[in-house]
Amino acid sequence: MSSHKQTKAERFAQLKQQFVLQLADRLQDIRTAWDLVLKGDVELRNRYELVRLVHSLAGSCGSFGFPQLGKSCQKLEAVLLELNDGAITPTIEQLVTDFLKHHDSLLAQGPDIDHSNPSYTEPPNKREHLDVHVFLLEDDKLLSDEVENQMRLFGYRVSSFESAEAAAKALALATPDVLVTDVLLPEGELAGPSFADKVGLSPTVPTIFISSRNDWSARIAAVRAGGSAYLSKPLDISDLMEQVDRVTGRVRRRENHILIVDDTEILAQHYAAVLEHAGMKTEVLTNPANILYKLASFQPDLVLLDQYMPECNGTEVAKVIRQCPTYLDIPIVYLSTETAVRQQLKAMEVGADDFLEKPISDDHLVAAVSIRARRFRDIKALMSRDSLTGLLNHISLKDALKRSLADEQRRGGFLSFAMLDIDHFKQVNDRFGHPVGDRVIRSLSRLLTRRLRVSDVVGRYGGEEFGVIFPNTTPTAAKRVLTELLRDFGVISHASHAEEEFKVTFSAGLAGSVDHPDSEALIRSADELLYEAKAAGRNRVVIKHLDFE
Ligand code: GH3
Ligand code: MG
Ligand code: MG
Repeated sequence: MSSHKQTKAERFAQLKQQFVLQLADRLQDIRTAWDLVLKGDVELRNRYELVRLVHSLAGSCGSFGFPQLGKSCQKLEAVLLELNDGAITPTIEQLVTDFLKHHDSLLAQGPDIDHSNPSYTEPPNKREHLDVHVFLLEDDKLLSDEVENQMRLFGYRVSSFESAEAAAKALALATPDVLVTDVLLPEGELAGPSFADKVGLSPTVPTIFISSRNDWSARIAAVRAGGSAYLSKPLDISDLMEQVDRVTGRVRRRENHILIVDDTEILAQHYAAVLEHAGMKTEVLTNPANILYKLASFQPDLVLLDQYMPECNGTEVAKVIRQCPTYLDIPIVYLSTETAVRQQLKAMEVGADDFLEKPISDDHLVAAVSIRARRFRDIKALMSRDSLTGLLNHISLKDALKRSLADEQRRGGFLSFAMLDIDHFKQVNDRFGHPVGDRVIRSLSRLLTRRLRVSDVVGRYGGEEFGVIFPNTTPTAAKRVLTELLRDFGVISHASHAEEEFKVTFSAGLAGSVDHPDSEALIRSADELLYEAKAAGRNRVVIKHLDFE
């Protein structure tokens, strides 16, 4: 990879240039194949090859700025299919010759449309998705300091202002991701809502109101100013962070993984570019024989499948996928020039989810793919995630560990696994009640997801126990990270309903795959080390004694 990341326009321009360079050759191939058929070469193989060449070109032309040529290819394909193994009459010969001439002139004309700037919209936010900048407008300095300090521990960036005037000045220089404002400010009783209304950030930048006023006029003013949430004082900072995550949509989410299976590499690359620029992650497979390996290694949320390939057709590939219990429900979307409804229905019978026709517009492709991938992931999340924290549940965490371990071992890499357990958690429940305990669990879960790397995998192993997979990390390096989190978690003040504040710590055991190449053994070792941490006085991270790194 070069250090210069290709822009959207550059990548499309490059693909298109490649396509144009190949185009003359591909037309020549068609002509050669046709000549063979014409020469009375009765072998059916030649006719199939001819149809395949025309078919493949029909599918790609539209995506690279030659829709007219694409349409012409489709018509030619229809004529050739009609022909089947019957005799070539002079009328048909004339028709094909005309088509080929027409193709030459279309090629000479160049692309019909400028495709260097495709129509789909860029994802609104290309920054690190967990980086959230909060503008806090609150004249109670004590409260704003407290909110600022606590939120910083979780990795939010907070800028505080004591007056609407100060916030307005800052807004001229920077735009936050969310505005949190008090209702009553030095400027007046409803200064918060009128400020929000005046600056008009909502709905692009969501606004959250916090206030000790709970009366109707304050609430209606907040709604009219475009408020997305309204929190009453005394403010629970956990609630505020939950609302900030909700309104900004900044919850940790892996991007959609889309596997593209198409024997025409350049076209597959084009789809990949379109989907990637819409924020998805893609991999291209030109040889369907590797499909099962690819599914296991890439873990796609959807498979985009070409219907016509030289070795086998899309329907057959779909059948192979569906015969594996693990992939019974993965969405499969066909992409093909096949317009005959009967053929489409037949292809769908094997349990495919949709049939998209080539050429397809970028917007249509992005929408069709992302809607289905998201639905699949929502359903999967319901089954694999814990409802209190949204983290992977026990079974899924163990699956993820097995998978990561296999990945690392294949690459000759390593990973670390940590088991965390909240200290004296029973006392929290006993003193403050179960709901407050739940909130502490959520707070540790939020700290882990916000502060660890996106590649680290966090799961809820049991009640107040968590497991973390650190890919490509030694126990010593992971210990440094966890020790920092330990320190920060220990200073977070949790609020009970009686407005009493308390602090909580956790303990952790950390084991490395170098010592334990099997996932069960790795978990057992981390668990034993966690027990050691508890025995040694809690509030600490323990790794194996003999660690010479
Ligand atoms: P140690 O420091 O040794 O870990 O002590 P502890 O009190 O944290 O450990 P123990 O295993 O004795 O108690 C864990 C408690 O966590 C018992 C259980 O009721 C509580 N718990 C488990 N799951 C949940 C949950 O989802 N919500 C709440 N509020 N409490 C839970
Ligand atoms: Mg505990
Ligand atoms: Mg426990």
